[in-house]
Amino acid sequence: MSRFDEFVDEFVFMAKNAADVASKKTGEVVEVARLKYQQKQAEWDLEKAYAKLGAIYYESQNSKEDFRDAIALAMNEITEIKGNIKKIEESIRTYRKMQRCGKCATDNDVSALYCSSCGSPLDDAPIDIDVPVPVKQDEAAAPEEEV
Ligand SMILES: [Zn+2]
Repeated sequence: MSRFDEFVDEFVFMAKNAADVASKKTGEVVEVARLKYQQKQAEWDLEKAYAKLGAIYYESQNSKEDFRDAIALAMNEITEIKGNIKKIEESIRTYRKMQRCGKCATDNDVSALYCSSCGSPLDDAPIDIDVPVPVKQDEAAAPEEEV
């Protein structure tokens, strides 16, 4: 193999790598934006659920009917939505390679050992941050450019 061929090989390899990194970054940005949208929607749902619980409670105070089941149902809904929001927030942190301080809830870089805000030691060893980035079907099917 000539020097020139080696150079071309290396260049192609580097270009390919750079493209991979770039597309992965874009994937992360898209994913975080999608998660943030989900988070907003879940927060709206939570507000609606709280309002519903308030309305049920109000009605229950003005009625002789038994509203306990309805109240329990509304409370379950709230608990479920809160759990969803927690999960979404956790996913966002994972994609951003952040970890949350257990004491003051500040987001820190995943590699940080101590909280940047309150100085508390952060949880154990950094978690595995290599999250697979889901590729949308239409993106995956996009034609490769000819080199
Ligand atoms: Zn802290």
